[in-house]
Order: sequence, then C-alpha cells, then structure tokens
Amino acid sequence: MSASLREECGVFGVYAPGEDVARVTFFGIYSLQHRGQESAGIATSDGRRLHLYADMGLVTQVFRENVLQGLPGVAAIGHTRYSTTGSSVVRNAQPLLVDGPEGQLALAHNGNVVNAELLRTDVASQGIEFKTTTDSEVIAQLLATAPGESWEERFSTVIRRARGAYSLTVLIQDAVFGLRDPNGIRPLCIGRLDGGYVIASESCALDHLGAEFVREVAPGELVRIDGSGLSSSFPLGRSRPARPALCLFEYIYFARPDSRLGGKLLHPARMEMGAGLAREHPVAADLVLGVPDSATAAAIGYAHESGIPYAEGLMKNRYVGRTFIEHDQRLREQGVRLKFNPLTEVLNGKRLVIVDDSIVRGTTTPRVVAMLRRAGAAEVHMRITSPPITHPCFYGVDMATRGELIAAHQGVEEIRKHIDADSLGYLSLQGTVAPSGRTDQELCTGCFSGSYPGEVPLELDKFALEADGERDRHALPLPLVTR
Ligand code: AMP
Repeated sequence: MSASLREECGVFGVYAPGEDVARVTFFGIYSLQHRGQESAGIATSDGRRLHLYADMGLVTQVFRENVLQGLPGVAAIGHTRYSTTGSSVVRNAQPLLVDGPEGQLALAHNGNVVNAELLRTDVASQGIEFKTTTDSEVIAQLLATAPGESWEERFSTVIRRARGAYSLTVLIQDAVFGLRDPNGIRPLCIGRLDGGYVIASESCALDHLGAEFVREVAPGELVRIDGSGLSSSFPLGRSRPARPALCLFEYIYFARPDSRLGGKLLHPARMEMGAGLAREHPVAADLVLGVPDSATAAAIGYAHESGIPYAEGLMKNRYVGRTFIEHDQRLREQGVRLKFNPLTEVLNGKRLVIVDDSIVRGTTTPRVVAMLRRAGAAEVHMRITSPPITHPCFYGVDMATRGELIAAHQGVEEIRKHIDADSLGYLSLQGTVAPSGRTDQELCTGCFSGSYPGEVPLELDKFALEADGERDRHALPLPLVTR
C-alpha cells in the first residue's frame, strides 16, 4: 500500500422510528461519499438487536435494495471510510459492532486518535480481544468496557482518555449518540426530521434529506437522540474548554462547497480564498481555470477579483474516483488523465491561470500543467488556495510522512520548476484563514504551521496497530511531543 495523503471519513446517525432508517442512512452516507470511498457501512437497531452491513466499495456498490431491506430499525448509524489508521481491508470497515457488559454498541468514527496504542494496551490487559487494526475499535472497546451507571458517564471515560480527533456516532438499542473531541477537529452537526433527528459530518447530508439544520455539535459535547428527543451534555464540564481547532483543510478541500461550517457556506468562503489569491499573486493572463471540482469556487473568486474571464478548460469524468483512491503510483499517474480531459479549443494559445486547492506530494500538479501545455497553453500560472503543506496531519488526514510532502523540503521556486509552471503562487496562511471567519487560534493549521492543538507523535505510523507480520511500512511509533 502506498503512503499518500488521503481523505478521511464521513459519519452519520439517525433516530426516527417512523422512517426507513437504513434508507435515510444510505442517502446520508451517499452525500458524504466525498469524505471516503474505500468502504461503507450501516448499523441499525430494531429496538432490541443491532444489525450491521459493511463492505469495501462505494456506498452504491455496497448497498443494494435487498441489503437495505434486511436492515430494519428505529435508529441507525452509517460510515464511509478512508483508512487513516489500519489497512484498507474489509474487517476494518465501519460501523464497528462490539459487545460490552451493557449490551451491543455500534460506532462510526471520523478522525484519528493519537494515543490509540497506549489505550489499546490498557484495554487488552482487561482481557479484551481486538478484531480490527483501527483506532476506532480502541474507542469502541474503551466505551463498551468503561465503568459508569449511564452512557454519559461511560462517554466521559472516552473523552478524558482519548487524545486527538474524533467525531463519533454511536448506536445502542434505543438511542444514537454524537460526540466531538474537545478541540472539535472534525465537523459534526445535527438536523431535525419530521419524526426524529439526524447527526452528520456535514450539513450537505441534512439538505439532501430535507432535514432542518439545528446546530453543530460543540467541541467536547455529547448529544443523545432517542424517544425523548435531543439532549446534550458536556462530559468534561464546560468549565475547562479546550481551544477550538476545526481543521482548516475542511475549509480548503474536504468538506463539500454546499456544506456550512461555523455558519459559513463553503462555496463563497472558497471564492474569497480565490479572490485573496488574485490580490496576493496577480498575473497577466487570458483565462482563469479551476481544477474541478474542488477548486472551481476559488477559480471563480480569482476571476472576479482579477477581472480575467473564468473558463471551463478541464472536463472531469465524475465517475472516476478521486486520484488518491489509487493505491499504486502508476495507476495514480494514469488517474489524472483518466479524470480530466482538456478542452483544446478553449486553451490553445492562451495564457492560463490554473487554480488548485493544494499541492501535497507534487504528483498531480505537474501532470495537470503538462496536460494544459499539450492542449496548447501559451503560459501556465499555477495558483494554490492554501499555504505550502510542510507538516503531516495526525488528526485524520492521511498525509503520510513528512518526507513525502514536497513543500517540507523544497522552496516555492524549486516546486515551480518541479511542476513546470511559468509561475507559482500559494495563498498565505492569513489569506486562507480569513474567509473562514475564524482566527488561526480557532483552527487546526498543523499541516501548514507545524503547530497542533494538542500532543502529537513525532511521526505517526499508520500501521502501528497492526501485527508485525502485517506491517508494510517501517516507521516506528515515537514518543509524544507537545507543540
Ligand atoms: P499531490 O499530487 O500529492 O500534490 O496532491 C494534490 C492534489 O490532490 C490536489 O489536486 C488536491 O485537490 C488533491 N488533494 C488534496 N488533498 C487530498 C486528499 N486528502 N485526498 C485526495 N486528494 C487530495
């Protein structure tokens, strides 16, 4: 398996006794498909027992009509996964079902727990056997075996002990919970349906379901949806708030442009990023293009601000998954061509500004530039709506090791040469942060600044939780450091 930056996961939950909850969850995770395309799963509760179906593949590949009909219930949770810890194998697909002293529970996790190994050793010492290699099972077992009279008390063990990023949905017999880590690194929001409530990673899932947006789950908050409606608690108390640190990359790339974060619709926020880029890195050109779809809004913003016309110059085959889906370098390289087709007549002889959201390893960008040149572009000016990515992510974005990040060891001019652009401009951190309406102290900017909201390992080994024989990377877990 190659070590590359990958996207993370989407989580969903619903309590609505009058609804076909498996189908509601199907559409919920379908609209979160952009957050993970490796596996998909749904767990339902019929009020007495939990039912689970999860497999490798896209939501529509995993769930056929007969599978959905075999998932009865009053409540459900769902998950779309991209592996950030543990391998891409079916036993790691989520939701996870575990049996504890209080009965069955199913759990869906978005994020990455940085002290999972330590917690796993502790839980295993109580005689618990692990079936998967994920940090998510560590949380599920920690919750299932935690002491306490109530689920709220048991969740307080999780939130006190787990470090890192976790937005969770958890299903028990008669309720669904949503929990967000104290920094609120990954998003999570609540919506109201006629006969109940839903919880989802992003608000776009609520819109598709016709659910009314209620609010975001606050950092450190536990919400419960059940027959009595919606209730909330703060297991750590409100008196010791951690610093809020929503991932800035959610604004730049991950979340869908029709989702809202902190009350801000992302499409105009990305247009503002593009406008900022035009102010910071102006250039004389004939057309502005975006790399579809993630950079389209920013390209429109660049065009408005600069007065250079916006054009569609690259057509995307939307049915080829994201480039990073490919696990093999050769296929990944092909992937750019499989994904984009240039409109030669539009591009021929033109000086182009091409906007993208990020350069990670520097694999995609030179191929996009080469494609535009082959199509006859006279000049290619690359503009990126984020700062150089110089540090790895420990919180759920699989950016692999620092060594693979091109900007960790090359300056802007070297990168420009590598991608073969006539000019290259990155948006400043300030310019990236401002459109979010938050300050950099309210966001996690770790991959750009090296400053993380909590303790992080020096280098995270994605396969740290796997048996030695299964490891295909050699990085060893290193001590935790605080930055
Ligand atoms: P790279 O080829 O490694 O430099 O990756 C940069 C490209 O990948 C850009 O076109 C981004 O839009 C895209 N990208 C950025 N982050 C991710 C991610 N987490 N998963 C998939 N693609 C990404």
